[in-house]
Amino acid sequence: MEIFYALRVLQHRGQESAGIAVYSNGIKSMRGMGLAHQALRPDEIRDLKGEMGIGHVRYSTVGSSSMDNAQPVVMSTNYGDIALAHNGEIVNADQLRNELKKKGWAFATTGDSEIIIRLLANDIASTGDPARAVRNVMSLMSGSYSITLMVDNRVFALRDPYGIRPLCIGRTKEGYAAASESVVFDTLGGEFIRDVEPGELVELLPGEARSVKTGLAKGRAHCMFEWVYIARADSCLDGRLVYDVRRRIGQRLAVEQPVDADVVVPVPDSGRSHAMGYAEKSGIPYSEGLMKNRYVERTFIMPEQTDRSTGVMLKLNPLKSIIKGRRIVLVDDSIVRGTTMRKIVQLVRNAGAREVHVRIGSPPIRAPCYFGIDMKTRDQFAATGRTVEEIGKMLTADSLGYVSVEGLVEAIGLGSSDLCLGCLTGEYPVAVEGEKTRFQKKLDSFA
Ligand code: AMP
Repeated sequence: MEIFYALRVLQHRGQESAGIAVYSNGIKSMRGMGLAHQALRPDEIRDLKGEMGIGHVRYSTVGSSSMDNAQPVVMSTNYGDIALAHNGEIVNADQLRNELKKKGWAFATTGDSEIIIRLLANDIASTGDPARAVRNVMSLMSGSYSITLMVDNRVFALRDPYGIRPLCIGRTKEGYAAASESVVFDTLGGEFIRDVEPGELVELLPGEARSVKTGLAKGRAHCMFEWVYIARADSCLDGRLVYDVRRRIGQRLAVEQPVDADVVVPVPDSGRSHAMGYAEKSGIPYSEGLMKNRYVERTFIMPEQTDRSTGVMLKLNPLKSIIKGRRIVLVDDSIVRGTTMRKIVQLVRNAGAREVHVRIGSPPIRAPCYFGIDMKTRDQFAATGRTVEEIGKMLTADSLGYVSVEGLVEAIGLGSSDLCLGCLTGEYPVAVEGEKTRFQKKLDSFA
């Protein structure tokens, strides 16, 4: 039941499918489509008892949104059962899959998790040592991965060599656990202990979280979009509370992109803390001028563009008493395609706003993400081939301003060399075919 509650706490990270695998004399699992409480009915979960377990909520980047790709993925091997839950993206998955196919392996799903679990099963079969097998497979994979893994009755948590996606460990009443975000431990009456280090493998034992040396750490490249949008504001990621970061971004935005206006209106929920910071620094009053229907899912999770625009209308309703006749600063976390913001600007105009100024808590998204955010092609981005002024026109806004890359990095409070800024700069921490690698310029200058 604890895992189920944890999945509900992490529901914002994925709403396509959910699943749980537990160990009790072998691994038993349950998976379903939709939100955790739809996918896993509480009365059914009660029968899924075990001494330990893992769970997953899915937001798809690679592989279709279907039951076949729901996680945890479970496989049985000679050594015992294996279950795996993965957040991230393996950039050399196709290469690995093709190499394995040549050896005669067949694959049942289109996702990259199956490749990982098959490689693991194979390695464990030959070495009989799960920790060593995990380390071996980590050394084959390139990309981002925060993984929880159960090999028979042993539970592991591992993070890629740059720590691109978040992962932390903590203690609950039941013992040690790992989760994508610290908020799980706060809300389940547990205690957050620490982040899993880049390239670290941790075994969760009844009385201990034992770190296993892998020697694979390569530095840091934490995804900036976690602080901007993905994570919950009350989570602390790699030492930085998301709420504080968002507020600092908003403050910085007010300094970099000031405007004469009457009221700061956040786009709920994602723009709220940024808007708070903007209001504090600019001195313009903050008002919740858009009401949100909290029963409609996060719009980005809807894979189809058409769903996304109707989603906006279902989700937000303007408060005329706040908006009518006023000059509004609308603050949101980011613009990807611009569909959402264009609709919102029009909603606010229709509610009688005199002027609508848009301020955005991240720099323009210009390049695809290969590491776990579903932003795959340049032609979908509002910023592709447009100046900021042109994007503003497309949004039908009176003005548009983004926070700068430097401003964002300062607000996060980690150096730019500790962050993945790939979608902003087009330079990535891990080699991706056809793309520039981070710090490449520096290395080139030695040639
Ligand atoms: P858009 O309409 O594409 O500009 O998106 C608007 C909102 O959804 C912003 O808050 C974005 O941060 C978020 N968003 C858009 N696309 C994605 C995506 N693929 N993954 C995560 N968040 C997204």
